[in-house]
Amino acid sequence: MSQKRDFYDILGVDRNASEKDIKKAYRKIALKYHPDKNPDDKSAEEKFKEAAEAYEILSDADKRARYDRFGHQGVSGAAGGGAGGFGGMNMEDIFDQFGDIFGSSFGGRSRRGGGQRVARGSDLRIKIKLNLKEVALGAKKKIKVNKLVNAEGVTYKTCGTCNGQGRVMRVTQTMLGAMQTQSTCHTCQGTGKLIEKRPSGVDAQGLKRQEEVVEINIPAGVEEGMQLKVGGKGNAGPFDGVPGDLLVVIEEERSKELQRDGENLHYEAYISFIDAALGASLEVPLIEGKAKIKVESGTQSGKMLRLRGKGLPSLNGYGTGDLLVHINVWTPKKLNSEEKELLEKLRQSENFQPKPGGKDQGFFSKMKDFFNG
Ligand SMILES: [Zn+2]
Repeated sequence: MSQKRDFYDILGVDRNASEKDIKKAYRKIALKYHPDKNPDDKSAEEKFKEAAEAYEILSDADKRARYDRFGHQGVSGAAGGGAGGFGGMNMEDIFDQFGDIFGSSFGGRSRRGGGQRVARGSDLRIKIKLNLKEVALGAKKKIKVNKLVNAEGVTYKTCGTCNGQGRVMRVTQTMLGAMQTQSTCHTCQGTGKLIEKRPSGVDAQGLKRQEEVVEINIPAGVEEGMQLKVGGKGNAGPFDGVPGDLLVVIEEERSKELQRDGENLHYEAYISFIDAALGASLEVPLIEGKAKIKVESGTQSGKMLRLRGKGLPSLNGYGTGDLLVHINVWTPKKLNSEEKELLEKLRQSENFQPKPGGKDQGFFSKMKDFFNG
């Protein structure tokens, strides 16, 4: 917000430009950066929004006067009605404005020409299941999607009810007398056109179902339940309208060995009390491959070992989590007589008497140990 550009600079007009000049300048920029002409171009979209914001203020005498006196501060919150001023205005609002500003010569998106609506297709939601490796590395998936597409061979005619305007005028009697109101034409649902001919298998909106393969890039670090939006890859819009979005819901295939907690992974390791007492080498599964770690002699059950950077990458690209190995000392459940005899010999041995205290005592000192480790 602090780096906002000057509205006159954005439109490329000088400070005493006439209303007509401002409109002309905006029209030129809006045409150049219109999303239909620049699909998937973020910087064009930004310029398009920026110009719409500038126009919104400078085309209104009141707002322009306030802007001239107080700058951006004077008009923040003035447009769009959102807390962030114009930031609250979305693309739909901007397109909505076009019909009013440019009349029939300018193609908006949600309204085209003199006020017809361009119907937007519905969003399509699919689920994608990813294993841990795909979550860690990101994935490129080709998914077969069954969706509505604009059918070939459909011909359209102008709606007779509204003469292609998409709106009809109605006169209603009120306490104050007759009032003329405009409403959306019900015959064509505001699109201004009707289907003349359609091949068999095509629905009344000019659409048919078809399988399409969509390529989806999934960034590393996504989580169960997250939703990614692939713009314009949803169902086609009725009456030759614009498509909806494809919403991709992430599902995680649970790993049997590695439990996820945000960016960190947890692994429960079981070792014998002999290994715990004498020390041993332990194999730990990683997202890819395995790692060998050393278990020190005298390791207590409940100890946590940290393998730095062996967790999952964060979605925003800052760092990678750790793999936390929880050591569980396995107590034998069955013993034969020979084993019992051996252990009985050790039962009274001084070194086998529990001596909790210091580092090894209780949960909190283990946590401390863990964070220092
Ligand atoms: Zn109509």
